[in-house]
Amino acid sequence: MEPIRQSLLKKLPGVDHLLEQTKADPFFEDIPRSVLVNSVRSVIDLLRSDILSAAPDIEKNLSDTVILEKIRARVQTELSLNLIPLVNATGVVVHTNLGRSLLASEAIENIALVAGSYSNLEFDLELGRRGSRYSAVEDILCELTRAEAAMVVNNNAGAVLLALETLSKGKTAIVSRGELVEIGGSFRIPDVMARSGAILKEVGTTNRTHPRDYEGAIDADTGLLLKVHTSNYSVVGFTASVSLKELVTIGKKYQLPVMEDLGSGTFTDFSKYGLKKEPTVQESVSAGADIITFSGDKLLGGPQAGIIVGKKEFIDRIKKNPITRALRIDKLTLAALESTLRLYRDPEKAIRRIPTLRMLTMPFEEIEKKAEMLYDLLKNLNDSRLSVKLLTLSSRVGGGALPIQELPSRCLSVTIQGMSANRIEWAMRNHKPPIIGRIEEDAFIMDMRTVQDADIDVIMSAFHKILKEDVQ
Ligand SMILES: *Cc1c(COP(=O)(O)O)cnc(C)c1O
Repeated sequence: MEPIRQSLLKKLPGVDHLLEQTKADPFFEDIPRSVLVNSVRSVIDLLRSDILSAAPDIEKNLSDTVILEKIRARVQTELSLNLIPLVNATGVVVHTNLGRSLLASEAIENIALVAGSYSNLEFDLELGRRGSRYSAVEDILCELTRAEAAMVVNNNAGAVLLALETLSKGKTAIVSRGELVEIGGSFRIPDVMARSGAILKEVGTTNRTHPRDYEGAIDADTGLLLKVHTSNYSVVGFTASVSLKELVTIGKKYQLPVMEDLGSGTFTDFSKYGLKKEPTVQESVSAGADIITFSGDKLLGGPQAGIIVGKKEFIDRIKKNPITRALRIDKLTLAALESTLRLYRDPEKAIRRIPTLRMLTMPFEEIEKKAEMLYDLLKNLNDSRLSVKLLTLSSRVGGGALPIQELPSRCLSVTIQGMSANRIEWAMRNHKPPIIGRIEEDAFIMDMRTVQDADIDVIMSAFHKILKEDVQ
């Protein structure tokens, strides 16, 4: 090693020396020792690798004062939470990476209530003995969907796995080739089927499947007819698929259960609000599906959950499956789900109170008003480097639902002289709380559909800071 680096390495203070130094600074007084030691170590490690990689000006950084400042910053990072709220300015309403659905305030209040108290989670108050965890939501699910029975698990991937394992393990599950979808991340229908022990039997072609394809595939080893709602893409042109109703008729003829994975799942007829039609859970129930699975936190706008509704005979079998225990829903989720579901008793109230529904059906003028308010505030900063434009672009539903739905939305397009769009995006993303937007045509874009009223202040303080500190 070059002598200069060797001598720099020798100048690096040790852990004990630095810990001793922190004693003189009141900032470090109440810092847990594990945090302090970790912070000191990581700062030393960083400086060591700077020396080894011959970073410029390293000698300056080796004084105790500078190192202590770095330790202070490191401690602050270690003490701040990892999971934090942020501003979604992407315009994707059900954004899986950003936490999918915001809960209605009724659901949030109910979580807090149940969290800090004992509850009748699995206790039947009438009979004074052990009860069922599902009873909190089973009645309301049956009331809303007119299904015979219902249960809930941790998420819809779990619901699909559990239903297939119960009804088709070691038997073939017949599904149309056009419905073998990938949901994103690591969820692919064929993979989940394989893990459930159900044997996949594909029928039809990518674009066309007919009733005779299912009938031709049925034999003594068949356990289930499966329909998957291809919610995240759309096949257009020369297409044919077998409706749920037709599949139910085939199921009846051969005495086989019919299961539908609705994916997103909604109780709301979106065509009433000027959006494209998304099949509702009620429609699947009335078409006669034996088992229907869907998510709690996609279009439903509730907490993460996998909801299973259908015929009592099959739901009872699913409830008895020991895997249910491994997928069971948490009490806080259950509290949020019950409150969310109750809002659906009045469909108009659901639209107003459930943030996902409110954002999806928000009138353009309302988004525009928010956009103009932020536009005016940014203009009032009176900074000649800042240039802001109002644009009409498209928001997306997200969550693998309504993929071709255009949702016209009002957006702000921001550029700053002396700063690239990438740099603005970075600064916004690293602001506390972070603001997530996107870059289009060398500008930072914020879609106001998903920006909440309280987020406006956060965005303004981010721009204040960026214009003060970050512009060269
Ligand atoms: C999203 C989705 C799932 C998985 O649901 P999670 O709630 O994310 O577990 C399963 N099937 C379909 C068709 C989906 O769209």
